[in-house]
Amino acid sequence: MRLDPDLRLRVLEAVGVYAARFSIPEPRVLMTTREVLDMPRAVTEGRRTSAYKYYGVSYLRHSTVFINVRKIPDERRLANTIVHELVHLRFPYLSHGRRFDSLVRRGLRGATFPPYRKRAPRRRA
Ligand SMILES: [Zn+2]
Repeated sequence: MRLDPDLRLRVLEAVGVYAARFSIPEPRVLMTTREVLDMPRAVTEGRRTSAYKYYGVSYLRHSTVFINVRKIPDERRLANTIVHELVHLRFPYLSHGRRFDSLVRRGLRGATFPPYRKRAPRRRA
């Protein structure tokens, strides 16, 4: 898709809306491979020069997502990519699979989720 200021704004708005529904802080959003390369290496480590291959990448520990707008062909996959990356941020323990896909679908339908809490270590009585 053509990354013009209007689309850039719409992506940021969508990220804001879904971040609120997922009860996560709004992540930093990168939209070009140039912006990925301009980030400190510590942030994008592991998915830096390879980021261009993907529709989206999340940099979990740095609350940062890359939405590869120019590679994404249409609105449907744009929304799907945004929600996919935010599911990674909200459910950091979850890898790709059926449960992950189901959360993406629920997210796209407007579901809301309570904040993520690390499970407290169980104490002995
Ligand atoms: Zn993923």
